Amino acid sequence: MRNLVDLHVHTTASDGTMSPEELVHYAHKKGVAVVGITDHDTTAGISEAQKAGDLLGVEVIPGIEVSVEYEGEMHILGYFIKDTQELKDKMVELRAKREERNRKIIRKLNDCGVNISWDEVMEAAKGETIGRPHIGMVMVQKGYARALDSCFEKYLGKGKTAYVDREKMGPREGIELIIQAGGVPVLAHPRYLNMEMRKLDALLSKLKDEGLEGIEAYYSMNTQDETGKYLRLAVRHGLAVTGGTDFHGTNKPDVDIGTGRGNMALGPEMVVELKKRRK
Ligand code: AMP
Ligand code: ZN
Ligand code: FE
Ligand code: FE
Repeated sequence: MRNLVDLHVHTTASDGTMSPEELVHYAHKKGVAVVGITDHDTTAGISEAQKAGDLLGVEVIPGIEVSVEYEGEMHILGYFIKDTQELKDKMVELRAKREERNRKIIRKLNDCGVNISWDEVMEAAKGETIGRPHIGMVMVQKGYARALDSCFEKYLGKGKTAYVDREKMGPREGIELIIQAGGVPVLAHPRYLNMEMRKLDALLSKLKDEGLEGIEAYYSMNTQDETGKYLRLAVRHGLAVTGGTDFHGTNKPDVDIGTGRGNMALGPEMVVELKKRRK
């Protein structure tokens, strides 16, 4: 038993490929003792995961990953969130915006000869939050691409043929939403912000003022240098350090739960720290 911690995983409630129950069984099998379920814009997978966790002795931390707008896209994780009415209302709104965008993407794909329909995408998505990965899954199923990666490279990625922007809230609003739901807000995978140290430093000061409590310093795709940099920033700004793999099942085939690309092994200290910051 390895007692690993993984605070960033996705289930079929958003764009992972394992159901919440399957995922917790898989976590158990892989020696993960604490798992944070952080589906995009939904908490729908949490209760099923917690039931499975209770049976197996895996601690399931209820979480979420929200997308906000900041010079492109920024993701904020929320831990220990509760299903407040306010959160539910916001999720309904976000899903409506997603549907609008997904339909536009499908129209663009149709225009360039990729014949997939909204119904097929709905069928591919098993949960509430539907996004580009589900559109890509249908493209792969129907032979328009070999893997999800190539769908993003050619059609779905930012600036590619079928890309459509989605209206998002700002960082402050995302942080507030998480805090109002009783959650602890954490900046996800800072490497994807593509910022040099000084700029990230200034951004963290601002986010901290707005209520940010942590930074995901350990992440499956980080270089050692990046991790070191984020750990220093955490100390400097008094932020909790968290870590996770961003496991998506076969939608990200090179990233496994608990170990990421093979070299992650996070311990329970970060869970203790996160719990201290819970209101
Ligand atoms: P959306 O939520 O519809 O904007 O889709 C974005 C999600 O697609 C991200 O959160 C990732 O989970 C996933 N994604 C982004 N790029 C890729 C890629 N190259 N291959 C597979 N999944 C990706
Ligand atoms: Zn995802
Ligand atoms: Fe993310
Ligand atoms: Fe994620």
